[in-house]
Amino acid sequence: MPPSGSNETNSYTLTVGLLEVQGAFLEHRVALQKAAQLLGNVDLRLMEIRTANHVTDELDGLVIPGGESTTISIYLKRNEMEEPLRRWIHNDRHVTWGTCAGMILLSKMTDNQKIGGQSTLAIMETEVSRNYFGRQVHSFESHIHLKEKELKDTIKNETYPGIFIRAPAIVKTLSPEVKILATLQKSDSEVIVAAQQGHVISTAFHPELTEDCSWHMYFLKTIIDIKKSK
Ligand code: GLN
Repeated sequence: MPPSGSNETNSYTLTVGLLEVQGAFLEHRVALQKAAQLLGNVDLRLMEIRTANHVTDELDGLVIPGGESTTISIYLKRNEMEEPLRRWIHNDRHVTWGTCAGMILLSKMTDNQKIGGQSTLAIMETEVSRNYFGRQVHSFESHIHLKEKELKDTIKNETYPGIFIRAPAIVKTLSPEVKILATLQKSDSEVIVAAQQGHVISTAFHPELTEDCSWHMYFLKTIIDIKKSK
């Protein structure tokens, strides 16, 4: 079945890598499979990324899951994966999605940075606050507001239940190229919790822990759009 709202009949074979170092990557696998099934025109191949030679041009997309950004970045350094990943992500035929710790790793600037710690990949023109919402005890679920039309077309509702676990937030966008995808209302301010810069997406919450897999559908659709445009 083609995705609703389009006349799409083509089907696509997509190869998506999951950075399986630490954190919630298994849940992402399940959600991606479900999203591919719902889209109906995607034949999805999932690959585990644990070493530098797993980072190949065969991949169309990459998910950097939530977890602990310091631990993930130390692993990437030790295994000499930073440079190959950075090169891969920079290529505009490739779509990357970082969730939570993944958002921190993708951001060019991070507050309270540990020496030799985060901002390993430093690709998105954003400044993030690592534990914006407080410590583990301050994990919570809250409705977020979607800002982009395409995202709303996929997610259908104006809001979406975001699960935040020691979550970061984007405190500043550093380039007009960064589109705000979603915000969360906190007291009287709107906090940026999802953004996209071309082929790189980041979300502060954990969409893989929600039944609704529309963010995963959005990610797969973005890969398809990029494939079609090249
Ligand atoms: N704030 C955490 C960090 O610094 C990320 C938490 C998460 O990914 N759930 O890595």
